[in-house]
Amino acid sequence: MKKVAIIGGGFSGTMAAVNLARLSTGPLCIQLINDKYPLGRGVAYGTKQEEHLLNVAARNMSAVPDHSNHFIDWLRTRVDYSDLPDPQLRETYVPRRIYGDYLRSILSTYMQPIDSHHPAEIQVIESEAVDVELTYDGCAKITLKDGTTIEADRVLLATGNQPPSSLAGESFSHPAYSPDPWGNWMEKIPDPKDDIIILGTGLSMIDIFLTLSEKEWTGNITAISHNGMIPQAHFRGIEYPDFLPPEPENLGLDNLVELLEKHCKQLQRIGENPGIVVDRLRPHTQRIWQKFDLSEKQEFLKRYAARWNVIRHRIAQPIHQRLTEAITEGRLRVLRGRITGLSEHNEKVRVSLQNKKGEEQSVEGGLVINCTGPNSGFSDTSVPLFKNLLKRGLIQPDELDMGIDVGADFAVINAEGEHSEFLFAIGPLMKGTLWETTAVPELRGQAMRVAQLLLDDVSTVTPGHDYRFSVEEEHVIEYYI
Ligand SMILES: Cc1cc2nc3c(=O)[nH]c(=O)nc-3n(C[C@H](O)[C@H](O)[C@H](O)COP(=O)(O)OP(=O)(O)OC[C@H]3O[C@@H](n4cnc5c(N)ncnc54)[C@H](O)[C@@H]3O)c2cc1C
Repeated sequence: MKKVAIIGGGFSGTMAAVNLARLSTGPLCIQLINDKYPLGRGVAYGTKQEEHLLNVAARNMSAVPDHSNHFIDWLRTRVDYSDLPDPQLRETYVPRRIYGDYLRSILSTYMQPIDSHHPAEIQVIESEAVDVELTYDGCAKITLKDGTTIEADRVLLATGNQPPSSLAGESFSHPAYSPDPWGNWMEKIPDPKDDIIILGTGLSMIDIFLTLSEKEWTGNITAISHNGMIPQAHFRGIEYPDFLPPEPENLGLDNLVELLEKHCKQLQRIGENPGIVVDRLRPHTQRIWQKFDLSEKQEFLKRYAARWNVIRHRIAQPIHQRLTEAITEGRLRVLRGRITGLSEHNEKVRVSLQNKKGEEQSVEGGLVINCTGPNSGFSDTSVPLFKNLLKRGLIQPDELDMGIDVGADFAVINAEGEHSEFLFAIGPLMKGTLWETTAVPELRGQAMRVAQLLLDDVSTVTPGHDYRFSVEEEHVIEYYI
């Protein structure tokens, strides 16, 4: 029987397994290897906190690209959503733990099918994969943390983002420091007379802020980042004429920026949100990114990426309102500066930072939580699996060192520049190659297309087609909000 091993059981790995099982016409064994975060849910949907909401409306969260209302229909099976009028349900920002339930329910349908005619079988292996090598007989051998090995014909890397970067050096540890927003920081909440400092002002900072608010913690929170910008709120878009040329990927960075700035100004003039401009780019961003040359990509990352992220990754309006209220009331302070170090200061952790003028400042917290996001330099990875794959020359960092090099058919490109015949990748590992490859609207398409390719279903594979690209036009579901 053909065997496909998937390393990583978050959204990407789970949905790749589900698509393999549902599209397979012959016997197939799918081994889903997952560690650390809950199976099916991964980092994002593993939260148990009710206040952690999706940041994408329910209408755009179907896990499968060929059934756009799949999530909406599933939500309707729950008594708490069954009576909501359709327009309201479609616009709901559902708790992420419910989305995790959705993914688990899809997985269990294929893990324990109630009919016995399904040719594919999904096995779950709860362990960390630490190495992959090719054996003499052409099979892939995956080594797990406890030394046991698994053999497979093909291996799919669906490992998600790299772990958060260590801001204070690997050796810094302190009872009041939490290096990871998904760690056990809730056990360390200090007395409200001490501040809590959050390093980062993005979506994970917001999760922490919401949980502290739900716990009615009355102390002050300081959030610090380079740009001091917090994510914007979702809004209802207006009818705005199409302004992009037929092939926006050929514009180049300078022309694109000029065009976007012109339309942002126009929208501001009429009192509308310039975020519409970013939303209109959504179906084209991966192609535009691919057409940029290296210097354009570097320039974008240096000058525009922070602003892009704040506008692109928006949050539900009620959450934004809670955040701005806390800022107005002084319960949440947002500082702008480059974090230069962490040190122990009595019982607390001192965070040193430098502003744009080079002036030094420091703040002390009874709890400091690192929410600065995934480590950005892939070649410095501390992850055993990737250290080993790099050592074996089976993978190579992409040109921006944000992830790994992956071909148009999801095949990983090795150190010699050759496309692997047995190692494939999807999800955030392709960030340097695609830029947008993090959220469900991109990942659901990848999870299905990689399954088609892994099954060698030639009838669905078009030669020369770039399968990494997100949603084909017909699958762009109301992408502007
Ligand atoms: C807080 C948060 C909220 C988000 N909210 C939304 C949202 O509302 N809408 C949206 O579209 N997107 C959202 N996202 C984006 C989110 O990243 C994707 O939707 C998706 O969950 C990514 O899934 P993934 O499987 O690629 O990665 P992950 O969820 O990170 O899953 C990877 C899994 O692989 C495991 N793994 C890694 N390496 C190994 C190994 N060597 N061996 C075994 N197991 C391994 C990990 O432990 C993990 O369980 C959110 C992200 C975060 C962090």
